[in-house]
Amino acid sequence: MAKAGRSVAVFERAPVIGGAAVSERDVWPGYTLSTASYVCSLLDPWLVEKLDLHAHGLEYYRKDPYAFTPLLDGRSLLLGGDGAANAREISAFDSADVAGLEAYIRRTDRLGKALFDSFSDENPRFERFDADSRSVLLGSAADLVERYVSTPVLQAELVNDGLIGTYRGPRDAGTGYVLAHHLAGRLLGTQGSWAYVRGGMGSVSQALWGAAKSHGAEIYCGVDARVILEGDTACGVHAESREIRARAVISNAHPRTTFLNLLDPSLLDAGFRAEVERWQTVGPSLKVNLALGELPDFTCRPGKNPQPHHRATIHVAPSVEYLQKAYDDARARGESEEPLIECFLQTPTDPTLAPPGKHILSVFAQYFPYDRADGWTDAKREAAADKIVAILARYAPNLPGAIERRQILAPPDLEEKFGLVGGHIFHGELLPGQIYEDRFTTRTPVRGLYLCGSGAHPGGCVSGFPGKRAAHAVLRDLAAA
Ligand SMILES: Cc1cc2nc3c(=O)[nH]c(=O)nc-3n(C[C@H](O)[C@H](O)[C@H](O)COP(=O)(O)OP(=O)(O)OC[C@H]3O[C@@H](n4cnc5c(N)ncnc54)[C@H](O)[C@@H]3O)c2cc1C
Repeated sequence: MAKAGRSVAVFERAPVIGGAAVSERDVWPGYTLSTASYVCSLLDPWLVEKLDLHAHGLEYYRKDPYAFTPLLDGRSLLLGGDGAANAREISAFDSADVAGLEAYIRRTDRLGKALFDSFSDENPRFERFDADSRSVLLGSAADLVERYVSTPVLQAELVNDGLIGTYRGPRDAGTGYVLAHHLAGRLLGTQGSWAYVRGGMGSVSQALWGAAKSHGAEIYCGVDARVILEGDTACGVHAESREIRARAVISNAHPRTTFLNLLDPSLLDAGFRAEVERWQTVGPSLKVNLALGELPDFTCRPGKNPQPHHRATIHVAPSVEYLQKAYDDARARGESEEPLIECFLQTPTDPTLAPPGKHILSVFAQYFPYDRADGWTDAKREAAADKIVAILARYAPNLPGAIERRQILAPPDLEEKFGLVGGHIFHGELLPGQIYEDRFTTRTPVRGLYLCGSGAHPGGCVSGFPGKRAAHAVLRDLAAA
C-alpha cells in the first residue's frame, strides 16, 4: 500500500515485528532462534518479486533432502529431490512404492498447484475444485497416501504434513486439505518444496519491514493498538496514548482478538459474533528449541559430522497407526504417550545461527492440546520436553548429553507470546467449515476494517497471501470511495 502511494503506519504489540515468523537473537548468548515457525514454502513468489524482498535480505536454502525417518530396527528412510536416490531408499522397503511415490507426487503437485492458484481469489469458493479434488481435500490424509504407497514408514512420512498444526488424527476427514495446503507452495520454482531462510524465519518479516520502510511506511513496535469506531465504521486506531485517524484499519491479529478485544464486540451483529466465538482454535502443537553441543548421532546413520540427513526434517513416526495413536491418546488422556515429532537442525545449513561448533534443533510435536482437562503446569511442560528428548534418544543416543539449553513453548505459551488464541498456529483450524468461503473474509462486517492475517483466506503459514489480498481490497475500496 505504501508502494502504491498510501500513507501507512504499522503497530506491533511485541518488541519485535514478525509475530510467529520471528528470529530471536541472544535468547541464549550467540544463538538466533526461529522461535515459532522454522521453514518456508508458501511465501507468494509474486510478493517476493513485487516488493523486491531479496534486495531486502531474503535468501532461501532449499531443504534437500527433505525428509528423514530413523527406525528402531536400524533402517531409515531419507527422501529428497534426487529421484534415483529416492528409488534406492524406497526399494530397501518395497520397490513397488517407487512408482507409487512418483504417482503420489504427480497427484499432489496438481492438487497443490490448484490450491496455490486459489490463494489469491477475492471470493474464495471451495466449489472451484473439481469433484475428484474436492473428495480428496474433504477426505483424510491417510486415505490419500494409502492409495499410492504401502510401506508404513513412507506412508507416515507423507501423512505427517496433513496433521501439522491440526487437532485431528490421520484418518479424520479434512486432513486431506491440510496435507494439500502444505504442498501448495511454489518456492524456488518447485511445487511443494520447502526451504530454510538465512538468518531464521524472522528474515522474512525483516525483509517485509525493509521493503515497507523503503516506500515510506512507519513501523512502531511495543505498541498495543485498538480500533477506533465511529458508528459502524473503523476510522483509526488508539495506539496507547496516541489516536491515529485512518481511512482503513487492517488487522492481522487472530480473528477472535480482532473482533472481541480490539473493538467493542457489542457493536457486532449477534450472528457474526457467535461465529467468532464458535471458531475452532484449540491448538495441539508444542515447540521445543534445543541448543546442542554436537549434532545428533543417529544409530541408523552414524556420525556427528554434518551429513545429508542432518539437513532434512527429521520425523519420528514409523507408521500411520503410530500417528493415530498419538492423536487418540491426547483425546483420551490429555496428551500423546508417543507424540508426532518433526524436527530440524538449522545450523548444518546456516552455521551463523549458533556459536562455532554448536547447533540448534527445533522440535515441533503433537498432540499436546491447549485445553487438556488436567491443565498446563510448568511440570507438565518439562515432562513433555523430557518425553520428546527420551524418544529422540532411542534413535540418536547422544542427544540428551548434547543438550546445553532448552526452550519449551506449550500451546498456552504460544498464545501468550504471539497472541495465537488457543495456541493454534494457524489462527484456527484449516479444516472444512473454516476454509474458503467459511474462513473469515478480508472485508469484515465493520466498514473500514479488514483482516490480513491467517484467520483470513487462505489461512495459516508464512505466505503473505492474506496481506496481499487485504492490500488489494483496501486500495480498490479507497480508489472507489
Ligand atoms: C510453533 C509454530 C511453528 C510454525 N511453523 C511454521 C513453519 O515452519 N512454516 C510456516 O509457514 N508456518 C509455520 N507456522 C505458522 C505461521 O507461523 C503462522 O501461520 C503465521 O506466522 C501467522 O502470521 P500472521 O501474520 O497471520 O499472524 P501472527 O504471526 O499471529 O501475527 C499477529 C501479530 O499481531 C500482533 N498483535 C496482536 N494484537 C495486537 C494489538 N492489539 N496491537 C498490536 N499488535 C497486535 C501480535 O503481537 C503478532 O505479532 C508456525 C507457527 C507456530 C506458532
